[in-house]
Amino acid sequence: MAGKNDTSSAVTESANSFLNVPVSDLKGVGAKRADLFAQKGITTVLDLFYFFPGNYEDRTKIIPLDKLEDGKPAFIKGTVVYADEENLPRRRKKIFKIIISRKTERLELVWFNVNKNFFAAVSEPGTLICAYGTAKLFGNKKQMYHPDVVTADKAGESPGFLPVYPSIEGIPNKVVRTTVKTAVDNYLDLLIDPVPENILKKQKLPGLKESIRQLHFPDKSSDYDCLMDSDTPFHKRIRFDRFFNLMLKVLYERQIRNRISVPPLKITGKMLKDITGSFPFELTDDQLAGIRSIGEDLAGGRPMNRLVMGDVGTGKTVIAAAAAYMAVKNNLQAALMAPTQLLAEQHMEYFCSLPPEMDFKPVLLTGNLKKAAREEIYSAVKKGDYNIIIGTHALIQDRLIFNNLGLAVIDEQHRFGVQQRASIIEKGKNTHVLSMSATPIPRTIAITLYGDRDFSFIGQYPGSRVPVSTLLVDRAKKRWIFDTLKDCLTHGRQAYVVCPLVDESEKLELKNVTDMAQSLKKILPSEYSVEYIHGQLDPFTKENRLRDFRSGKTNILVATTVIEVGIHVPNATLMIIEHPERLGLAQIHQLRGRIGRDGKGGTCILISPETQSDKTRERLCTLEKCSSGFEIAQKDMEFRGHGEITGIRQSGFSELGIGEILKHHDLFTKSSDTARELFETDPDLKSPESRHIKTMLASVFDEG
Ligand code: ADP
Ligand code: MG
Repeated sequence: MAGKNDTSSAVTESANSFLNVPVSDLKGVGAKRADLFAQKGITTVLDLFYFFPGNYEDRTKIIPLDKLEDGKPAFIKGTVVYADEENLPRRRKKIFKIIISRKTERLELVWFNVNKNFFAAVSEPGTLICAYGTAKLFGNKKQMYHPDVVTADKAGESPGFLPVYPSIEGIPNKVVRTTVKTAVDNYLDLLIDPVPENILKKQKLPGLKESIRQLHFPDKSSDYDCLMDSDTPFHKRIRFDRFFNLMLKVLYERQIRNRISVPPLKITGKMLKDITGSFPFELTDDQLAGIRSIGEDLAGGRPMNRLVMGDVGTGKTVIAAAAAYMAVKNNLQAALMAPTQLLAEQHMEYFCSLPPEMDFKPVLLTGNLKKAAREEIYSAVKKGDYNIIIGTHALIQDRLIFNNLGLAVIDEQHRFGVQQRASIIEKGKNTHVLSMSATPIPRTIAITLYGDRDFSFIGQYPGSRVPVSTLLVDRAKKRWIFDTLKDCLTHGRQAYVVCPLVDESEKLELKNVTDMAQSLKKILPSEYSVEYIHGQLDPFTKENRLRDFRSGKTNILVATTVIEVGIHVPNATLMIIEHPERLGLAQIHQLRGRIGRDGKGGTCILISPETQSDKTRERLCTLEKCSSGFEIAQKDMEFRGHGEITGIRQSGFSELGIGEILKHHDLFTKSSDTARELFETDPDLKSPESRHIKTMLASVFDEG
């Protein structure tokens, strides 16, 4: 087969461009269905290959009727003894019912509001039929609602495990299944495996074709539990590819950077001394080390690309200010980009509060400025009247032209896409980049994942900071929780109440938050004001409410997990988290980072779930004992199971997500080692002209 030894084509996309056959070329896919597929991001046969099922129906074995379990799906077989339409007079509804029997057992199959003609083939008494559905047991009576039925002779040909795809509006799962089948039957043989065979052998990974086939249509001998846990060798292979591609890209970017040289900045000992003297407190050793490294980077003659990783509250802003100071003293402008308006405002306040000797001339540029004001800022920035330009995405507008941008600081860098980062960098001639992140991930993973950068880890908390204490409290102790809340308010402090959403898509989210806000209003004395925020509020309202909380106008803020990373309300000392079991440990850790920001401590109450397993309890208890984000991330990783893999093809980093890397860190390490090995030995991969790299950058990593 062509391409087997083609080690240079390390990426599926480029090697398999001929699979960009539109789905509408497949039998059974007309223009309308093609549109529906497209809405899910599926336009080509290759997209279909990578549209993996999230679940499988086990139709490998027939479950005897006396072994049916309530609420569990089952594949069953029996003889029709009765089939007819019936009226439900009280509910003015028609149902269609088939009763089947096997040995001494009976089972009713029931459909509401369906055309009885549909059942012609399976309703003749005496017919042997098979059905797949979820059993409902009511005492002796067994039922299945809306099962999938076929005559037994047809079922005999059916595959063992049927794939269940993520739902596509307007296309039934059965149709998706046959469409994928057609695609696999007609085109899979053309697929070229981009990963060299020797690597697959060494890593004991199956081939790509076999993997794609098995993920859609598993062999009857497959292990059902492994399938459902996305834990087969075939799942592993797909994950390997994702990590592998990601790492190739990181390696490529790093070596591109190493080739560029820029005029070094002048960084003097006095400058560093002045910096440390400019803050009203002593800097921590980690802050100092970070600042020193930045000085070396800027003076080093290569573009700086440094990532400062430190937990919330470790004082990263100071480091950003120090970097900006060095740029400004070299007569360069610095830009500070934050993901939200509120964070940008916070930074603006911060820079305005720094001593005048630092010579900062800050300006705030955000999306909601009036046109005239914005134009005025544009022209002042262009003239060089401001030397630190703080803002949101507004900083990457084409119309904004810097006088001499020398440093771009990107706060909460994971909130920006590759494209946005690139846009700000392009605004200067030799822009140095400093990114900041509070994402708690284990160091080893961070170093690999962000292999294109240099690192500063900030592990120490500043000053005599009292850590936030975290308590897992039984829901039954409502009274105590309420008293704690009231106590916090009477002392003039503020509190967050967090209600995580039940399900990403659910309206219940709003209900949880608004209900909670309402009941708090009811039970609290009227002088306390309660406000709520959630993801579905328009950004303007959301920011206003956050601002009111910051200014102290609101005493309690009820929120989903949307409360910003980095939001700084030093007066907030209490956080109550409902349903902490729905959240990852790292996420809770991020949330509790919102409180105790004045360094005097705070309390985070996790309301203990009523029905909690020992494992849930053990997991949540980690937070009581452990206060380091990196350590918690490590623990989180150990507690997680395997996650399903779907929508693989849109595998930008943002979607790949750190979560997936944490879950599969062994595989991640392996694939990154392998990528490094291949990168070192394959000259073609290093060339900027490499077609493969280009295609890869363009197609796989256009996001995140
Ligand atoms: P991060 O961005 O890392 O979450 P911030 O930069 O917002 O943290 O800092 C949190 C708080 O700690 C701020 O109020 C800041 O003034 C304070 N801070 C920073 N460094 C020190 C230090 N060395 N000593 C005392 N307080 C500090
Ligand atoms: Mg910050």
